[in-house]
Amino acid sequence: TLFKNLIVLGAAFFLLLGALIFMFITAQRERELAERQAGFLANVTHELKTPLAVMQAAGENLADGRVDNKERLKAYGNHIHSESIRLRKMIEKLLDVAKADTNQSLIELQPVHLNTQLQKYIEEHAEFIKEKGFTLETSISDDVDIVMIDTDSFETIIGNLMENAIKYSGDEKYIGISLEQKGSKVELRVKDRGLGIPKKSMKHIFEKFYRAEDVLTANTKGHGLGLSIVKNLVEQNGGEISVRSEENKGSCFTIRFPVAHESDIEEYYLSNPV
Ligand code: ADP
Repeated sequence: TLFKNLIVLGAAFFLLLGALIFMFITAQRERELAERQAGFLANVTHELKTPLAVMQAAGENLADGRVDNKERLKAYGNHIHSESIRLRKMIEKLLDVAKADTNQSLIELQPVHLNTQLQKYIEEHAEFIKEKGFTLETSISDDVDIVMIDTDSFETIIGNLMENAIKYSGDEKYIGISLEQKGSKVELRVKDRGLGIPKKSMKHIFEKFYRAEDVLTANTKGHGLGLSIVKNLVEQNGGEISVRSEENKGSCFTIRFPVAHESDIEEYYLSNPV
């Protein structure tokens, strides 16, 4: 029985140790998140205030009638315009996060051919991407089945992935986009040949407020929200996301959406007749 008791004692000890380690890790995680959140708030406050201050000053000067020179007038206009765009983007991102947090994003699933949807997105953005000096390589199969998806979500998803591909491109200004059917999934890939993601950061990049440290030093701007929004939306649309990446080689984000069931498509058209 001594032996038995020893085993029980040992088991209890390890259980306790395990629980303690678990509690320690959880507390550590929470502290990290709280720190990131505080940093985020400081950043956001700064970033919301800066464009506002610029617009306020420009507006004041214009209203005073002190700006009489045509060139300066134009410069003021440009200032207000670009700062308000910055502000709008910032607010949109914050709203996306708030919506995702409270599960209030209005997901309206509808039958969609992703190739058409993606082609449309690319047509709308190709000019901008090329203007930034990027090579855009696309391979979009026409032979994909219908998926049930919310088209606004899809725009946000692809928009955030493209934004990252551009932001973390380094010197290799390349973006590759592909779409193809793989069994019962429609697979979308967004590839870059940029900075890549350090191994130790890989498991964190979809967490809210997380930014890889080396990227921070590489002087890119961001709040670590984009990918958490993307993952959330992908999952709300019934899909899954994964990533492969190698430092200084680039990253590839893959999203898979399940092909729609015939019954879901029928049901949709029954309640939304064309
Ligand atoms: P943000 O870009 O605002 O930092 P994200 O949530 O979009 O926030 O990304 C989180 C982190 O993941 C980034 O800070 C960066 O470290 C890493 N990351 C995301 N996309 C890429 C990419 N295409 N290449 C390299 N690193 C990336």
